[in-house]
Amino acid sequence: MTSAIATEFEPVIGLEVHAQLLTTSKIFCGCPTAFGAVPNDQTCPVCLGLPGSLPVLNRDAIEFGIRLILALGGRVNSPNIFARKNYFYPDLPKGYQISQYDRPLGEDGAVEFEFDGERRRVRLIRIHLEEDAGKSFHPETADQDPDTLVDLNRCGVPLLEIVSHPDIRDPREAAAYMQQLRRNVEYLGICTGNMEEGALRCDANVSVRPKGSSEFGTRTEVKNMNSFRSVERAIVCEIERQIGLLESGDEVIQQTLLWNESRQTVEPMRSKEESSDYRYFPEPDLLPIAVAPDWLNDVSEQTPELSLERAARFVREFGVPEYDASVLTDQKGIADLFEDVAREVSDAKLVSNWIMTEVLRVVTDRHPSVETLPVQPPALIQLLGMVRSARISGKIAKDVFEIMLQSGEAPEDIVAKKGLEQISDDNKLTELVDDVLNANPKEVTDYRGGNTKVLGFFMGKLMKASQGRGNPKRLNEILRERLGPPGGEQKPE
Ligand code: ADP
Ligand code: MG
Ligand code: ZN
Repeated sequence: MTSAIATEFEPVIGLEVHAQLLTTSKIFCGCPTAFGAVPNDQTCPVCLGLPGSLPVLNRDAIEFGIRLILALGGRVNSPNIFARKNYFYPDLPKGYQISQYDRPLGEDGAVEFEFDGERRRVRLIRIHLEEDAGKSFHPETADQDPDTLVDLNRCGVPLLEIVSHPDIRDPREAAAYMQQLRRNVEYLGICTGNMEEGALRCDANVSVRPKGSSEFGTRTEVKNMNSFRSVERAIVCEIERQIGLLESGDEVIQQTLLWNESRQTVEPMRSKEESSDYRYFPEPDLLPIAVAPDWLNDVSEQTPELSLERAARFVREFGVPEYDASVLTDQKGIADLFEDVAREVSDAKLVSNWIMTEVLRVVTDRHPSVETLPVQPPALIQLLGMVRSARISGKIAKDVFEIMLQSGEAPEDIVAKKGLEQISDDNKLTELVDDVLNANPKEVTDYRGGNTKVLGFFMGKLMKASQGRGNPKRLNEILRERLGPPGGEQKPE
């Protein structure tokens, strides 16, 4: 951030986040919601908005919303009411979006998260349900039809909109808030949290004010960020633009801006509409939704442990450092894997190191999620069990892991087939040491003359001679025994 932000102005940020719900069908019809289908294949008269069709509410959409509201300590409104939000857009065939307005599904509650080593709490205004609109494409290449294309598969996919109070003061904090929401919806099983696929979207409301001022400045709304990083960048960019305006005596105009990822700039989209422009009114085709207390109790009882609680428990139960616990709980699948493996392999730090390095590298680079990883808990338990009992070295284990990923074979089988077991037999190890010492008399003399650095040289030779299979701890001990004390016997008086 520029120094101007740090000194004279304070940013004020409030986020509106849309989470696409993981229901199998749409919110008001039976069409499937799967991502990436053939355009316009997943549509019916209801989601196409054909005259005479009527919406039928999907119970799961309500339940998923309730899960999040309760998990965040919010209040569920009974009844809550759907409303029509009227506007024209080519990807909105009905001419209105069914949303919620003055009786949303939920109100209040807060998102808690770690930021710069501190616990932060951003309060929520409301959480409501609405239907998604379609998608417009504007092909620009010469060989494509230059007209705009519309895909209506997304029409009627359920969205949960989570609106925060303007409690955020730093673009990095905004990204951290988004990350925590992503973990929460993933742990609750209501949304994939995938920003790149648009399953989690963020509109950032941004204003700046002189430091110490208690009034908010005029805000703008920035849309179209498709990663956590671009949320942060877009907000930084908008803060700088607003400060520039104020410093040169201009005013900030309330408007909606689009983040341009390739140019890394914000660009005006439209002047900000007021809610009165939408002519909201209660949706006449849907009844108010009463939520029975029993339903709330059931959902509440099933609320799973979320990431922050789980991280704290990992520290308590497994004794891993806080840093490890936060990395391990970032994705639910990884946290499950750690827990399954650490219960069986009685060295939680070994398991944690392995998951944080080897497993996460593979998940990040080659497999989109831990669920599709070909290495599941039983295989990892077997592999790390062999490391723990010194049957194979840590280094060999990495090679075995790679083979497991490629072939799906069990680690025991790979080790047996390839003869990778660690050599821990003292006779064999002593033989190896003697061979290496005999072959390198100059370094032996150096060591005995006081140069202990050659120990590393000998260990390198020994690991090479044993093809990485010599037990390094025993080799080191035997080596020192055979060499005698450094500089001991030969030092002339
Ligand atoms: P709308 O529906 O028009 O977008 P809302 O009242 O629902 O308006 O608020 C939208 C978001 O704007 C909320 O997240 C809120 O925290 C944020 N917000 C309101 N005022 C400001 C401000 N002055 N600066 C930054 N964010 C703000
Ligand atoms: Mg808004
Ligand atoms: Zn449909």
